[in-house]
Amino acid sequence: MKVYFLNPPFVPRYSRSSRWAARCRGGALYYPIWLAYAAGVLEEEGHKIRLADAPAWGWDVEAVSEDARKFKPEVIISECNFQSLTNDLEVLNKIKIESGATSVVVGPPTSQFPERILESGADIVTRFEYDFTIRDIADALENGKSLENVRGISFEKKGKEEEGGKIVRTPDRELLKSSELDSIPFVSKTYKKYLNLEDYFLGHTLAPMVQIFTSRGCPNLCTFCSWPSTLMGRKYRARSSENVVDELEYISTELPEVREIFIEDDTFTADKKRILDVCNGIRERGLDITWSCNARANLDYESMKAMKVAGCRLLDVGYESGNDQILKNMKKRITTAESRQFTKDAKKAGLMILADFILGMPGETKATAEQTIRFAKEIKPNIVQFSVATPIPGTEFHDIASKNGYLLVDDIEKSLDSEGFQKCIISYPDFTKEDIEYYVDKALKGYYLTPAYVPVAFSNIMRKDGVHELKNMATSAKGFFKYLGRDKEPNV
Ligand code: SF4
Repeated sequence: MKVYFLNPPFVPRYSRSSRWAARCRGGALYYPIWLAYAAGVLEEEGHKIRLADAPAWGWDVEAVSEDARKFKPEVIISECNFQSLTNDLEVLNKIKIESGATSVVVGPPTSQFPERILESGADIVTRFEYDFTIRDIADALENGKSLENVRGISFEKKGKEEEGGKIVRTPDRELLKSSELDSIPFVSKTYKKYLNLEDYFLGHTLAPMVQIFTSRGCPNLCTFCSWPSTLMGRKYRARSSENVVDELEYISTELPEVREIFIEDDTFTADKKRILDVCNGIRERGLDITWSCNARANLDYESMKAMKVAGCRLLDVGYESGNDQILKNMKKRITTAESRQFTKDAKKAGLMILADFILGMPGETKATAEQTIRFAKEIKPNIVQFSVATPIPGTEFHDIASKNGYLLVDDIEKSLDSEGFQKCIISYPDFTKEDIEYYVDKALKGYYLTPAYVPVAFSNIMRKDGVHELKNMATSAKGFFKYLGRDKEPNV
């Protein structure tokens, strides 16, 4: 079949597949990683595919229409996310009507709002992880089989005209097993074939970069975190270390322009034996690669040393807060004491740190926000990120905010301004929306725009890839100043 994978247009450089979909302050742009995995699966099954990334190519709806007209798809698989859902469904509907193709919606909101998505005109909605669901949908459509036998989807079964349709929700699909993850084609192969590596950028990696997953799912219960409850589930599943090292070797030989590989797993550092196996594999094959990953602030020093030797450059760490009670409230299961020890160890091992903080979680006050700002300055990460707390549907944080009347508006789409930057939609009696936004700006300026950051910036530049670190800092700084200089939009 001819299958068109679409990352639909929205605001410029919209990172739809990031954990907090938005236009990033530092100008980052994420790969459409989930679509690319599924596209690889379908291509291997013998389907003819096209992967169109509108935010990366600066395409509007007309450009997508024209491209789809030329490709003549039989099926369109289109990604959506909470922050852009109305737009995403409108775009898909337009392309679907013009092309006459069957439309399939994928992405985190599908697990929460399948009926609403079907009402928008979509033909089929996949729920949660969708690589093999898409494979089974294509097989059913191609061979005239019933969609009712495809697990993990919702669709409208057409009845007699006067009776209207009936929504069918097939049983949930089991999350892919570890062994099945090994059978999915390398996402980097799909990038090479269909995307331009130069289009993508992360402020915390060297460019050009690629993003890959080596495992899926996270058993932790952080109340604000969306992917475990809307897409990948809480069961940890991992590719074999050999399969991971095979892909790293593929990237090293077939994509020599790549300067850094970012491992996007929620939990790459969850299994020490696996970390050491991957690191040993890299060394044994003599791969000269630079990579980074997400990490939890309880990673041990021995693992860090092995990672550094195997080419690891940076750890992206969710510290979230400098106050232990706030950490407890958000079920982070990490203390500030652990975070301090972790930071010392990471620096000793020679690893850079991107520290992520959230301001405005339940229990936050001016005093705790100040404490978090002080904490960031004390531990001195190489890069910091302060985010406005955003209650994403499907998370415990959203339930808490909704039940207690903390939501200014129960519409996640209002959490982006018209340019796509993050905006606050939550307010507490003692810590208002204005307070949250004030402290996020204060934290960012207080970290980057003070003399205390000069030695940190200098240490970044003095590293092995100093010229590229400098280039990255300059690109991020451009986006950052543009963000700080924007006109704030009125309250929701
Ligand atoms: S550990 Fe990370 S991925 Fe897992 S629930 Fe917490 S924030 Fe989400």
